Amino acid sequence: MFMEFRNEPYADFSKPEFRKAQEEALKRIAGKFDREYPLFIDGKDVKSGKLLKSINPSHKSQIVGTFHKAGQKEVDLAMESGLRAFEKWRLVAPKERAMVLLRAANIMRRRKYEINAWMITEVGKNWLEAEADTSEAIDFMEFYAREMVRWSEIKGVTPFPGEYPELAYLPLGIGAVIPPWNFPMAILTGMTTAAIVTGNCVLLKPSSDAPAIGYTLVEIMQEAGLPPGVLNFIPGSGSEMGDYLVGHPKTRFIAFTGSKEVGLHINELAAKAAPGQIWIKRVIAEMGGKDTMVIDSETDLDAAAAVVISSAFGYQGQKCSACSRLIVVDEVYEKMLTILAEKAKKLTVGPTEDPNHYMGPVVNASSENTILQYIEIGKKDGRLITGGAKAAGDGFFIQPTIFADIKPGTRLDQEEIFGPVLAVIKAKNFDEAIDLANATEFGLTGAVWTRNRFKIEEAKKKFFIGNLYINRKCTGAMVGAHPFGGFNMSGTDSKAGGMDYLGLFMQAKSVSEKVD
Ligand code: NAP
Ligand code: MG
Repeated sequence: MFMEFRNEPYADFSKPEFRKAQEEALKRIAGKFDREYPLFIDGKDVKSGKLLKSINPSHKSQIVGTFHKAGQKEVDLAMESGLRAFEKWRLVAPKERAMVLLRAANIMRRRKYEINAWMITEVGKNWLEAEADTSEAIDFMEFYAREMVRWSEIKGVTPFPGEYPELAYLPLGIGAVIPPWNFPMAILTGMTTAAIVTGNCVLLKPSSDAPAIGYTLVEIMQEAGLPPGVLNFIPGSGSEMGDYLVGHPKTRFIAFTGSKEVGLHINELAAKAAPGQIWIKRVIAEMGGKDTMVIDSETDLDAAAAVVISSAFGYQGQKCSACSRLIVVDEVYEKMLTILAEKAKKLTVGPTEDPNHYMGPVVNASSENTILQYIEIGKKDGRLITGGAKAAGDGFFIQPTIFADIKPGTRLDQEEIFGPVLAVIKAKNFDEAIDLANATEFGLTGAVWTRNRFKIEEAKKKFFIGNLYINRKCTGAMVGAHPFGGFNMSGTDSKAGGMDYLGLFMQAKSVSEKVD
């Protein structure tokens, strides 16, 4: 049952059988776009009558699903259901809880193409990005299932004369799980199942841009045999019901992944004890990034440029780990820009149901506006190398855009844009490049490209980020191998997919009995 963890292999879409499976799944889910989705509380469908529509960003007029939204009444209902379920779920043996995750991972494997299809249509992922996202969700469940068993077997105490000391890890209680839309299956599944496998109950509020994908996890957990009330699905607008959910006196912890602004707001609100609250809420907050790749002169520029392009423009730059700052040493600066421009011009942009499009749309109208505003700032503050405008089509399409000569300290150098915009900055030498790389408020991912062993060691010591990569891309952390989470304003460094992660969802109780 608990063999060693291995990452889920990806489907190879260059082969006709995989392409056919994905095409068929896309057709199948298109027949479900007119569905209305209830909330799911205490194992039952609940309708609030207040609706939220989720659209396909590749085709703005296409609605992929209509969702009943939670207000205060539904949050209260979900909280009561969670509190009731917790009394039993917390006592279920860790191995049994782990088994639910393993069964769910198998069901997700079976439904992989369909889940990919929801991501391709609801948030504009290309096929391979969707496949990677679903695979990561499976990885999280396989990994945390094994991790729960390991935690349950940890001794945690040393012998003491005349006593039997023990240490047990207990769940915390009811948690609000608040994921973003950009890894709508992987992050949502990772945070939710980590909370559940450790014995907690969850109030899951998916992103308003990706509720259909969240709903698939609810179906899967039900099929996997999760008891009613352990997972309650309460979509709703974060700005309308988020404060009530976070501020609720019975909310014991918040597992959040999203922007710095919302993360800081949640942290502040959670710190305030509500009347009747008898604990300090725990906040696990993974937030934004301004991730940097450093290109040294002693490197293969062509290989580096290929990876910069995929790190900057993969999923339209909408990854917390996306390369949005490129720092190049003077000696190879102009040459690097020329190679980058050539490569960026070859990228195709369009609706993602078509596998020939490398880039799809950005997620929604407000995102599109923000990114276009940053592009205008870039035109004033830097030299436009390529892109710089919307791309053709009925969706939120933006060209891959590169600005050179961005000065340290300016907005494109400092602020998270979360779109296909790369700011290139010149450094005198490698040392200055690392100093500039560190000069933001964030600290999530980054990569250094150099063949020089001395410089590699310098980067390991000085580049202050949660996930550092050498001579590879700065995106694509794998569960188990690359525990993920950042420093500074990138969050609480929770290291999702790592061996410390489950500890964040538990508290330790020491018991010692005197031997007569
Ligand atoms: P976001 O706008 O901060 O939203 C994240 C979640 O918070 C959504 O479910 C949102 O709901 C909810 N929310 C909004 N206001 C709230 C409130 N007052 N109380 C409680 N919840 C509230 O982020 P996003 O646009 O979804 O995702 C992009 C951001 O996530 C980027 O900054 C990216 O860097 C970051 N991210 C970080 C990591 C990491 O591991 N560090 C990973 C992925 C993404 P609504 O959708 O209803 O507004
Ligand atoms: Mg959408």
